[in-house]
Amino acid sequence: MTIGMDKSIEELLLAKDRRSELRMQRLEKGCITLSFNLNIPGLPKSNESFHAFFKTCLSELQKYLLSHRIVTNKDTIHCETDTAGDFFLAEIIDSDYSAIQIKELCEIFEIEHPLGRLLDVDVVDEKGELVSSGKAKTCFFCNEAPAIYCMRTQAHDYAAMRTKIESEIFKYQASNKRQNICKQLAILATQSLLHEVALAPKPGLVDRFNEGSHTDMDFSTFLNSTAALSISFQKIADFGYCFSGDNLKEALPRLRLIGLEIEDDMFAETHGVNTHKGAIFLLGFSIFVSAYLLSKDSFTNDKFVSLIQDMNGDLVARELGKKLDLGKETHGEACYRRFGKMGQGIRGEIQAGMPCVFKKALPILHEQFDTEEILNDKILNKGLTCALLAIISNNDDSNILYRKGVEVLQKLKDKASSCLLEFKSEKFESTYNDLIAFCEEKRISPGGSADLMAVSYFMYRVNRRLVNHD
Ligand SMILES: [Zn+2]
Repeated sequence: MTIGMDKSIEELLLAKDRRSELRMQRLEKGCITLSFNLNIPGLPKSNESFHAFFKTCLSELQKYLLSHRIVTNKDTIHCETDTAGDFFLAEIIDSDYSAIQIKELCEIFEIEHPLGRLLDVDVVDEKGELVSSGKAKTCFFCNEAPAIYCMRTQAHDYAAMRTKIESEIFKYQASNKRQNICKQLAILATQSLLHEVALAPKPGLVDRFNEGSHTDMDFSTFLNSTAALSISFQKIADFGYCFSGDNLKEALPRLRLIGLEIEDDMFAETHGVNTHKGAIFLLGFSIFVSAYLLSKDSFTNDKFVSLIQDMNGDLVARELGKKLDLGKETHGEACYRRFGKMGQGIRGEIQAGMPCVFKKALPILHEQFDTEEILNDKILNKGLTCALLAIISNNDDSNILYRKGVEVLQKLKDKASSCLLEFKSEKFESTYNDLIAFCEEKRISPGGSADLMAVSYFMYRVNRRLVNHD
């Protein structure tokens, strides 16, 4: 054994002595103590990945204890990392359980945990005795002999054991990260739809106070629809996060299938009214590609745009350009036939990598929101209104084009541009009211622009929360 090794072992023993001492100090108060550490063979006992894993498991253990109404004294918690590794010690100040019952509950925690055999939760009773249930843990490595036997006989090679532990911990943390990111993406997507519909006043669109140019839907229709969509967003995120094909186009059939299922859920909640078809299409792609890039820690807006373009490179020609039977053509197909490039609608926008979102709306959202710590209602209303105007003034909304023609669409875009120019001036309110009155008079609703605004807000939040970790 080298001198360095001797020194490490000496430090290890000292650290262990100090832990006993800490326990003894708490014993004087006559309470049950609970400690938690990882079983790591060899040295060092802690490193960056062990420490992060310890913190994850500690948080899980604390929630587990709380779920059993086992309360620890927050003021005297001891948590440190030394030569003996990561260590947590707490006094139990309130519980309906005896020390042995607490030990049994902790054993259940260890058994149910996917990496429970790396976890060591010890309970010391009021008299200072280490509580044991008499059950022996099986060895993590051979899965045959009791762990204590393999440890004492040094049955396994330390380096091999540590490699296996590191790899299992990596997998566990990666799975936690996946769940967390997919959950966050679903939350942000749902929030973007809620903030879009709540935004008021809006030209021609449903908002929290009125129905705009619509007669078949109101604020509550949108809330019901959003609730239906929200439960499927995580499914899309999971699909994107785990997608391992070489070409994202291979994901299209499954993405469409999820999209069709969501549409069914939407129509069931809205009694057949189309509130969010465009949003499902745009957000579906946005969630999928965001999750895919976040899984590789390589999200940037440029990469996002380029993947969206790769996936949808021939979308317009494929979906709008082939119909020969005019009697059966959809609004989208008719629009493309009549207006060409201007009539490409949402498909043209996504094929081009969503320029309305990335070139028009996002710079505005950054300008309006970046310096704000919390995006409250007032700040959101101002910033999202500005972003919506930027989108309306650039977007060739195919629904308006189809129903009202080029002239009305151009007038709408011009009026939105004027609002944008006056955004910081006193004249804004009257200019904006003029735009709202125009939409009411013409019975038009720039729904496609509202969808793009929701997606812009989603992309903004993805950047801020999941990429820059604000
Ligand atoms: Zn073994």
